[in-house]
Amino acid sequence: MSVSFWEASPSDNIKFERERHVYYMEMMHHLLPSHYSGQEINRLTLAYFVISGLDLLNALDRIDKEGVISWVLSLQAHPRSEADLESGQFFGFHGSRSSQFEMNDNGALIPNGSHLASTYCALAVLRTVGYNLSSMDSRSILKSIKYLQQPNGSFMPTHIGAETDLRFVYCAAAICFMLENWSGMDREKAKEYILSCQSYDGGFGLVPSSESHGGATYCALASLLLMGFIEDDLISKSASSSCIIDVPLLLDWSLQRQARDGGFQGRANKDSDTCYAFWVGGVLKILGAHKFIDQKASRDFLSTCQSEYGGFSKFPGQLPDLYHSYYGITAFSLLNEPGLNPISVALGIAGAAGVTL
Ligand SMILES: [Zn+2]
Repeated sequence: MSVSFWEASPSDNIKFERERHVYYMEMMHHLLPSHYSGQEINRLTLAYFVISGLDLLNALDRIDKEGVISWVLSLQAHPRSEADLESGQFFGFHGSRSSQFEMNDNGALIPNGSHLASTYCALAVLRTVGYNLSSMDSRSILKSIKYLQQPNGSFMPTHIGAETDLRFVYCAAAICFMLENWSGMDREKAKEYILSCQSYDGGFGLVPSSESHGGATYCALASLLLMGFIEDDLISKSASSSCIIDVPLLLDWSLQRQARDGGFQGRANKDSDTCYAFWVGGVLKILGAHKFIDQKASRDFLSTCQSEYGGFSKFPGQLPDLYHSYYGITAFSLLNEPGLNPISVALGIAGAAGVTL
């Protein structure tokens, strides 16, 4: 009797279904299911998952690159004047067409709803489709990003005000790295903020004195690498030189996130979840310690989250979603799955083989 791959037990060493994932991402590219309507404001982020996902799957030929470039560029906010640029607003990218024309409580249009995460996704998508970032208006982004940095070194995602934490330090670092210009960011202050987020157990919390978390730890390590404060392959290099973070404790915390079922959890005592095979796996890659995980067990867990329709779910046996599909693919890229392009761990998009940047 033949057993279809989604019914097989993890020990059957299930195949990575590349073609199905390509179809799933293509389907999402053409028409998002209706339950994504609540995420309309994050459309650039959803596009990042699809386009970077197709790139990692070596299937970027399925999209109209010129169409993508003009759509992304149409979401950039431009200052109307030099005075506008000096007004304290951040001029980056809107998450979607609707946020470009958002209204305030009085019904007046807000002309600029730029967001750091949308700006990171915009640049990541443009870079992925081969657009030369030096030919865009990066001056307004670089001149205005400084208004988002707080006295403690952290970043707000918008000039309108919102929570500040490591996610937005990461977005700012990735933006400055991709634009090859750090003039809008006080790196020393950002570094101090990141270091203040390392917890007693070695992981990093999203804000100082908070519980260690896989996503926050990724943001911390990737930001320090992008900013040039640490090197990759830290465990072999930190032995000979002093490192600004506690590497042995971080290594211990990260390796302990692989659970008995082979998957990775974001925090202690939580269920394994597809996306942490990338968040925590990425940290281990930067540390030079990804080889120390049980790679077969990780692959087996991820395979139980692989959907028959293509894509990955958060937990085994559930329906896939775009977010976990992307991070399932990136996790398989970290595991050097044949047919997948290597990932630049710190930037979160495809990159050259063997490097984390
Ligand atoms: Zn998740």
